[in-house]
Amino acid sequence: METFARGRWRAGSCVVCGLGTDTVVGFNGTAEWQVAALLMLGVPADRVDATARSAMWPDLAPSMVPVGLLTAVVRVCGQCFARTPLARRGVVPVVYTVDAEVPTFISPSEERTRRG
Ligand SMILES: [Zn+2]
Repeated sequence: METFARGRWRAGSCVVCGLGTDTVVGFNGTAEWQVAALLMLGVPADRVDATARSAMWPDLAPSMVPVGLLTAVVRVCGQCFARTPLARRGVVPVVYTVDAEVPTFISPSEERTRRG
């Protein structure tokens, strides 16, 4: 259900509440999955596109959408994450350091493919 991705530390704020946090979770899958993940975290629908571009795809030109599978690491505080359906899997966000093993959610369609 969860795999782990290595990450590099970045300062910043929670994508949901905007307060400063050093904790993150990851999402692996298509751009559609990344956007769905932000909605699951509690990002309002009218803010989700701007949040995906700034928090997940900062290097992407405004007219572009990522193609294929990608992993995005998203800053989210423990309080916001605890309110999501994802927290029921027993996962908690981790502090983002060079050696952090970031809990990463794989898109449901990709999980089906991998199970064969
Ligand atoms: Zn928060």
